[in-house]
Amino acid sequence: MLTGKTALVTGGSRGIGAAIVEKLASQGASVAVVYAGSREAAEALCAKCGADFSVKAQAYQCDVADFAAVKDLVAQVKKDFGSVDILVNNAGVTQDGLLAMMKEESFDRVLDVDLKGAFNCIRHCAGLFLRQKAGAIVNVSSVSGLMGNAGQANYSAAKAGLIGLTKAVAKELAPKGITCNAVAPGFIQTDMTKDLSGQDNGLLAAIPLGRIGQPQEVAEAVAFLASAPYITGEVLRVDGGLAM
Ligand code: NAP
Repeated sequence: MLTGKTALVTGGSRGIGAAIVEKLASQGASVAVVYAGSREAAEALCAKCGADFSVKAQAYQCDVADFAAVKDLVAQVKKDFGSVDILVNNAGVTQDGLLAMMKEESFDRVLDVDLKGAFNCIRHCAGLFLRQKAGAIVNVSSVSGLMGNAGQANYSAAKAGLIGLTKAVAKELAPKGITCNAVAPGFIQTDMTKDLSGQDNGLLAAIPLGRIGQPQEVAEAVAFLASAPYITGEVLRVDGGLAM
């Protein structure tokens, strides 16, 4: 159980992030739900967590790519909740395109949100974790970062970078009892993948378990890693065997 702990979940308004928020709240954690633009969805989810699980849940607008804004966010969450114990770096975007035609801005934006966003959050939570001599970080990477994916050079680079970041942070903070792990989801049913049809593009055939995953299945893995004191630097695939 996570009673008494506070979790900060980025990209918590929709999809995998919303499932993570609900899962952690169901285990008793108070939750700071960070969103970019979906204020209503984030606030509705916070109200649901309060009603269903009797935990404190509050929504915060923040672009995780903005170093200074993330500093203010973490300070505000600390003020509102008293501490941060679990950080889930889930916020992410895609701007897919073939490499030969990919715009510089598309590469930069995906790296800024998906990779630097995680750095920003870890960087600004690190002081709290070090003072507490405790903390758990879970980064949401992707099988694209493990395998590479045609049409996703920017996203694959960001998600692979996130795995390197995870391992470096794990080694650096382990002496203080702080863990840092990653999950690598495969093809999960959310807004991010709504334009892809598994059957049409042969994706389903490439997934040994023969189906796309649900956000709740990723949330289970995140909750596990968030409360596993002797696991650090691990990358847990949640992909139906896709990247095996
Ligand atoms: P999604 O449904 O598109 O939701 C994305 C979330 O990230 C939203 O809550 C969004 O907030 C937030 N976000 C986007 N840009 C942000 C920014 N600059 N600052 C703060 N928050 C921001 O995506 P998803 O499918 O749940 O994906 C969640 C994570 O899992 C991502 O890191 C993604 O790369 C990863 N992943 C997904 C899959 C998949 O198949 N779906 C597979 C592997 C990995 P708003 O609602 O306010 O826009």
